[in-house]
Amino acid sequence: SAFNDAVAAASELNAFIVATPEHALASADAVDSARADGKQLGPMAGVPIGMKDLFCTKGVQSTAASHILEGFVPPYESTVSQNLWNAGCGMLGKLNMDQFAMGSSNETSYFGNVSSPWRKEGSNAAMSPGGSSGGSSAAVAARIAPAATGTDTGGSIRQPAAFTGICGIKPTYGRCSRWGVVAFASSLDQAGPMARNVEDCAIMLGAMAGFDPKDTTSLDTPVPDWFGNLDADLRGKKVGIPKEYRMDGTSQEILDSWEKGAEWLRDAGAEIVDVSLPHTKYALPAYYIVAPAEASSNLARYDGVRYGLRDLPDGAGLQDMYAATRAEGFGDEVKRRVMLGTYVLSAGFYDAYYTQAMKVRTLVQRDFDSAFEQCDVILAPTTPTASFPLNSLNDDPLTMYLNDVFAVPASLAGLPAMSVPATLTEDGLPLGLQLVGKAMDEQGVLNAGLAIE
Ligand code: GLN
Repeated sequence: SAFNDAVAAASELNAFIVATPEHALASADAVDSARADGKQLGPMAGVPIGMKDLFCTKGVQSTAASHILEGFVPPYESTVSQNLWNAGCGMLGKLNMDQFAMGSSNETSYFGNVSSPWRKEGSNAAMSPGGSSGGSSAAVAARIAPAATGTDTGGSIRQPAAFTGICGIKPTYGRCSRWGVVAFASSLDQAGPMARNVEDCAIMLGAMAGFDPKDTTSLDTPVPDWFGNLDADLRGKKVGIPKEYRMDGTSQEILDSWEKGAEWLRDAGAEIVDVSLPHTKYALPAYYIVAPAEASSNLARYDGVRYGLRDLPDGAGLQDMYAATRAEGFGDEVKRRVMLGTYVLSAGFYDAYYTQAMKVRTLVQRDFDSAFEQCDVILAPTTPTASFPLNSLNDDPLTMYLNDVFAVPASLAGLPAMSVPATLTEDGLPLGLQLVGKAMDEQGVLNAGLAIE
């Protein structure tokens, strides 16, 4: 009956695209018999998790929340999900998300909006769980799943974690294999865990990460014992506060929450220093050139021949079939990204947009390099606002894109970054704080997160 309650809660939030209780039960059985055989079991053994539908799971429909992949059942397993099964996890189901991970509110899914379990005080309006990993954040926040996978291209783990009062970490680019993860923007995409607390994130990231020869950008370096080395004593550590994140229009609530975070870190022994990331304001525009450019190329494979949907109008030729399939299969936001991407990559505009954005990306990376000469970890808000009601920003893509203004710099630089729950707004919604670390220093990020939690 606990299971039925969870199923009812999950369907109310629309967090799942498909439920796979048989998978979770089979893994529980396997763990039971391993235990009976006296086998040594790791901390993830028997834990039933939610899997973002961007991960290909063998024999289980994997759609990236798009109509164009409806009915696609991969004949292979993504490396990250395989790593989790090897660690003894089971799968509760495939989680809803923004279509192809494009979005910040979970309103671009072909399978419908996901609702956050949170409500504003005195209101019944369904709130956004954030996006694109909104099924993951909603399921964990509603206690339907103890943990879930997410992916983060420009904030999609951190922003939904912040909106729902949970933890989520995007590791250093290359820590988690992208093999078998539906590609959005390959130079930015990273998988990571979303869970109730820093400890669970540390454990689960340890199970997800690791070198994979099938991903050419995979980091060939051992996975540290992040959980074993958790330590909230920050004496001797310096925490940088980037002044450029204090943007015009940032609300007092966000500034107060940020100040509180600095205080908690100071209490844990850290020294707080001011740092500068001068190119911050160019990061978001650069992201919205680089990410759509890569997406337009990655999404060229959905042609009606290889996967899922095919729309073959009567008497149509190959070109008509491509056009009809893509017109029907992609949602509006995906089409917007493909058009933006092909535009910025086209002859005549390439230098003005794409090349320029790549230069900005390098400047953003250099900003972090110099900031990290003065501090060990950076503290900033995760988002410029708390969650908003579903359907309130639909006609305003630019405001929607602004959600990730604090998240994309770390993405462009490939750095580990985490959101931890911090304070509540006056009307009772969670706000998250973000910790950004040096490349490969997930430990520094997790430890500072632990001091805030
Ligand atoms: N919200 C951002 C976008 O729509 C980031 C998405 C993501 O990280 N996958 O591109």
